[in-house]
Amino acid sequence: MYFDHSATTPVHSDVQDLINIIQKEVYGNPSSTYSIGKDALLLLEKSREQVAKSINTVPAKIIFNSGGTEANNQVLWSMIGSNKNHVISNEIEHPAVTKVLQRLKKFGLEHCLIKVNKNGFINIDELKSKIKKNTGLISIMLANNEIGTIQPLEQVVKIAKKHDILVHTDAVQCLGKMSIDVQKLGVDFLSLSAHKFYGPKGVGALYAKNPKILKPLIIGGNQEGSLRSGTENIPYIAAMCLASEIATKSLKKNILHIKSIEKQFKQKLQSNFRNIIFNGSQSQKLPGLISISFPGFSSNILIIKLDREKIYVSNGSACGSGMVKPSHVLKAIGLDEPTNLSTLRFSFGISNNFKEIETLIHILKNKILK
Ligand code: PLP
Repeated sequence: MYFDHSATTPVHSDVQDLINIIQKEVYGNPSSTYSIGKDALLLLEKSREQVAKSINTVPAKIIFNSGGTEANNQVLWSMIGSNKNHVISNEIEHPAVTKVLQRLKKFGLEHCLIKVNKNGFINIDELKSKIKKNTGLISIMLANNEIGTIQPLEQVVKIAKKHDILVHTDAVQCLGKMSIDVQKLGVDFLSLSAHKFYGPKGVGALYAKNPKILKPLIIGGNQEGSLRSGTENIPYIAAMCLASEIATKSLKKNILHIKSIEKQFKQKLQSNFRNIIFNGSQSQKLPGLISISFPGFSSNILIIKLDREKIYVSNGSACGSGMVKPSHVLKAIGLDEPTNLSTLRFSFGISNNFKEIETLIHILKNKILK
């Protein structure tokens, strides 16, 4: 039973079928000028249209890449050399933002990380107070990967525009779980990753309102408007774009389904276990992503026990070199260390069902939380 869709999702069967067909039949290099190269180019551009449509933009503003990490990196590294060399971000960003900012100090990019409250929301007044004359970028994720909190991005953009500051948002967790409209959001850059919406791993896209202000991270044969060189991974790009279309077309239905699974799970948890804590906002958050602390239990041990039952969830903590560290997100929302280390993240997906929830609760009650 797979309850870790925020880590990654299984590939949709139609998407897998498309990969198999394209891998075999559309093998030309899209930069080649003969007909099978043109076929590949045509498919590449059709795919760009598909993903652009799913976030309400035009194909020219989409750059294909290897995923969310690369998209975030490209935006942040592009700030080097700018005379507006100050970036505002926040404490609960993914390391593909915070660690990059840390590294970029060496290259003259300053930054500050604003705080979040106990529900996981950034403080808009603090954001305003951190703006300096040389602030060139605000990078705030659309929704958090550990607790699901959806940030007030439209407010952020409104403030940023008053000061002529660019806005980037890491929306890696969002496609397929909430509607994404870049025009409504008003952001300058937005990061996407296929493997979070039933597409393959290692492929993603960056939306740029004005791609000309970006700089390439990878230099070579001038693909992707010279912003991301390297022969395009046509099968995976086409797969991602089909996955984005499927995810957007079935958005309402999927949200309803995942929300009802979440509701059932929460109700059953509350009626069977006292003492559990739901972390972060329970209203303004992604559907199906729930962070729960089980005081008195170690999340690490819970995960091992659940794994033995073939139940897959993740903990809120970052594992590095075998050591379990408290999660920076849970720390930022005020959890003490023991509670932090007793937290699990459940993230439901489209193939989960009520029967699985019943089994999960039964196993938690009789085998795990005893
Ligand atoms: N940003 C967020 C919020 C994520 O959850 C992840 C992946 O877990 C990433 C970025 C990294 O994306 P990718 O795995 O495509 O590099």
